[in-house]
Amino acid sequence: HTDADAADSTGETLRTPIVAVLGHVDHGKTSLLDRIRGSTVIDGEAGAITQHIGATAVPLETVSEIAGSLVDPTDFDLPGLLFIDTPGHHSFSTLRSRGGALADIAILVIDVNDGFQPQTIEAIDILQRTETPFVVAANKVDTTPGWNPQENTPIQGSYDAQSDRARSTLDERLYDLIGDLSDHDFSADMYWRVQNFANNVGVVPVSAETGEGVPDLLTVLMGLSQRYLKDAMAIDVDGPGAGTVLEVKEQKGFGTAIDVVLYDGTVTADDTIVVGGTGDPIVTDVRALLQPRPLAEIRTEKRFEEVESVTAAAGLKIAAPDLDSAMAGAPVRVLRNRQREDIVEEVEAELAALGVTTEEQ
Ligand code: GDP
Repeated sequence: HTDADAADSTGETLRTPIVAVLGHVDHGKTSLLDRIRGSTVIDGEAGAITQHIGATAVPLETVSEIAGSLVDPTDFDLPGLLFIDTPGHHSFSTLRSRGGALADIAILVIDVNDGFQPQTIEAIDILQRTETPFVVAANKVDTTPGWNPQENTPIQGSYDAQSDRARSTLDERLYDLIGDLSDHDFSADMYWRVQNFANNVGVVPVSAETGEGVPDLLTVLMGLSQRYLKDAMAIDVDGPGAGTVLEVKEQKGFGTAIDVVLYDGTVTADDTIVVGGTGDPIVTDVRALLQPRPLAEIRTEKRFEEVESVTAAAGLKIAAPDLDSAMAGAPVRVLRNRQREDIVEEVEAELAALGVTTEEQ
């Protein structure tokens, strides 16, 4: 089962939306990502989850397994969700795709006890400016006094298992949060009351610690994506790939390599790529495409395996000569049979839009 299954005769297919996690320090971004990864790994089923370079892919069937009765997989034709592993709004705002945000959708994590904090407001401003649809994860509900934890259950079941007292304490906290959002001009409500997600932000009570509400969170993300991103997710799978550099680093046996999130098209091991850098854009031939091996094999084999081609959305490592001056946040383009000058210019224009010009260095 691959993304290509959904391809129609024009070569267009729906890619996986890219999800970012933002929020104030210590509000639980890393824990939430860990929980999402963990809750799918424990199944031990092959294909349940794929670790990419810099990202984690959760296929629709896994979302639907986690979400249980909340999700009818036949309601969706997007293939799942790709979570960027580096949380925080710094990475969010520096990672661009064609001038927009690299992430198509976001989770804003807010600690229900701590409420709005400076970085929460910064994150909201960025989400607003980039017009990125987002959902609020009201995290740490398990810290409500008297909480009776319900591992990995949807929030409704978890609510039902609480004392009146715990329930009303949590409600109070959640309504404070909704008040904070409204003070920042976001009309928000508990996600199950939101009719129109274009006008209202949905709040999902969760615990990264116990997994409560995580099924709901994945369900809302899938629903939002399906509703608002479907057109934007239609890509030409066979077209020349486009992506963003996450990191530039040494890869043993390969020299300098770039970690890339690919958001459009395909890159193959035979391609020539154009990469933004601190000097002129780099034009170079791919030496190898690397992806992490499945978890089970890591102990016995090398960590990465070479693959022939990778299709968006995906995270991968690209090894090629001359990547030393490549730059995190810069665009990557597959040249394929297009004019080299055109693509170099495109990459330069994008760097300029990021506030980087080759003259400045
Ligand atoms: P980040 O800075 O936003 O990535 O926050 P972390 O994920 O590192 O979490 C900060 C602290 O809060 C850690 O000690 C976590 O164990 C704790 N934490 C995160 N989520 C929860 C939660 O849902 N419940 C509880 N009780 N603690 C949490």
